[in-house]
Amino acid sequence: MNRSVKPGGYNEAAILSLGPGAPSPEYFPFDHTSLRVPSAREIAVIGPNHAGVTLTANKDDTRAGRSDYDLSSALQYGVGTGARQLLDFMTQHTKQVHNPPYQDWKCVITGGNTSALDLALRTFTDRGSYVLADEYTYATAFECARPLGVKILGIKLDEEGPIPSELDRVLTGWDEDHMESKKPHLIYMVPTGHNPTGATQSLERRHEIYRLAQKHDLYILEDDPYYYIQLPANVSEHVEDVTQSIPFSVIPKTALLPSLLSIDTDGRVFRMDSFSKILAPGLRTGWVTASSQVVERIVRAHETSLQNPSGFSQIVLYKLLSEAWGQEGLMCWLSHLQIEYTIRRDALLRACELYLPAKVASWKVPRAGFFMWIKINWLLHPLARQIGQRGVEMQIYDTAIKAGVLVVPGTWFQPDPSIALLDVFFRITYASLTPDVMPEAVERFGEALRSCFEVLD
Ligand code: PLP
Ligand code: PMP
Repeated sequence: MNRSVKPGGYNEAAILSLGPGAPSPEYFPFDHTSLRVPSAREIAVIGPNHAGVTLTANKDDTRAGRSDYDLSSALQYGVGTGARQLLDFMTQHTKQVHNPPYQDWKCVITGGNTSALDLALRTFTDRGSYVLADEYTYATAFECARPLGVKILGIKLDEEGPIPSELDRVLTGWDEDHMESKKPHLIYMVPTGHNPTGATQSLERRHEIYRLAQKHDLYILEDDPYYYIQLPANVSEHVEDVTQSIPFSVIPKTALLPSLLSIDTDGRVFRMDSFSKILAPGLRTGWVTASSQVVERIVRAHETSLQNPSGFSQIVLYKLLSEAWGQEGLMCWLSHLQIEYTIRRDALLRACELYLPAKVASWKVPRAGFFMWIKINWLLHPLARQIGQRGVEMQIYDTAIKAGVLVVPGTWFQPDPSIALLDVFFRITYASLTPDVMPEAVERFGEALRSCFEVLD
């Protein structure tokens, strides 16, 4: 066959498409885009707020041999797996960090963990079925489940997340007639820096839960957007102590707790990772890792919903991760975030010790994520018996707002609000305020608690 290139630029041997209704890139009114980001070297050596590098994506980079991914293809219709170029990078990253212990695992680029969870629930549940989760959990998870007719059953929590004996008890004693539903086959959890309780499952806890999942044949939905925000146990007195205690470099793998995916010999974990907490939530992008059979279901679900994350997000991520940072640069960035969030966590903890009344409020030091879970000794409230837990909670919430600070009531995270409350909790975060403003915010919360509980010290 004559393979010569004809006038008009086509190869005679190639198929000429009169098929898909994909618009020609010449009608995309975007010639190029550029963005400024810190270089990997700057993150590791002098900090991310320096000059940076400019990354440019043009329409024709691939044809010109400048890049493996260009604007013409990023802005064209894509495939349900996400862009191959970005998928390859995240698959390599997942292999390095989690190294799933079975053969046929795969990744798929998603529209973030909320979208991934929605698709997983649509794929794996039937109307009327139960999904196990935590007694307090990420509110969007049960809001996703509710319109699908899926009921959430909360498992009791301790400082390390769901209590294995409780999980075993619920499943061993499951009575299909009484529950009007089959024994659950799905468990949803947030193993690292749990939202809202801040709890992180120890390695032993992860193994115990995995063994119970094997015993009861549960499939695990591992929603882990705070995985990389793992923080040291000791709380610093000063900011300088933090920068000295965490080496500013590639995170040593041993410093990260193994994920459930990394102990998943059976292919029963659906791991959801997100760029929201490590790069930017508005990218609306993340990645799922699961067995190839399950990933294929998610790709099919993408084809009739998201299709793939926005081409702009995908090309920005590819340029940043693959072309500017590489695998090591990404790890440096994550190390940088660990330092920053440690500084913030420690500032919030110091402010809590200074301003919250110790008799009324208590907490544990979070080892990961964005959140602290403040337990309120509600029985000390002068009207405790009359207004009960909910009354105390609402009064604190309203008083705090009047004092000029927003704290989130624990009941907002209860999947089943009909279950009677035993305790009163508030979620507070160190993610959004700068450390210099935190003392003021916590002082206001302290004032609100003192006023509600009529305590002076
Ligand atoms: N899952 C949990 C446990 C979260 O805390 C959050 C955000 O706070 C999300 C999912 C949302 O992730 P995404 O922005 O990737 O949808
Ligand atoms: N909106 C969206 C879409 C989110 O994913 C998040 C983070 N989960 C938030 C808002 C903040 O929600 P929250 O404070 O309940 O974690």
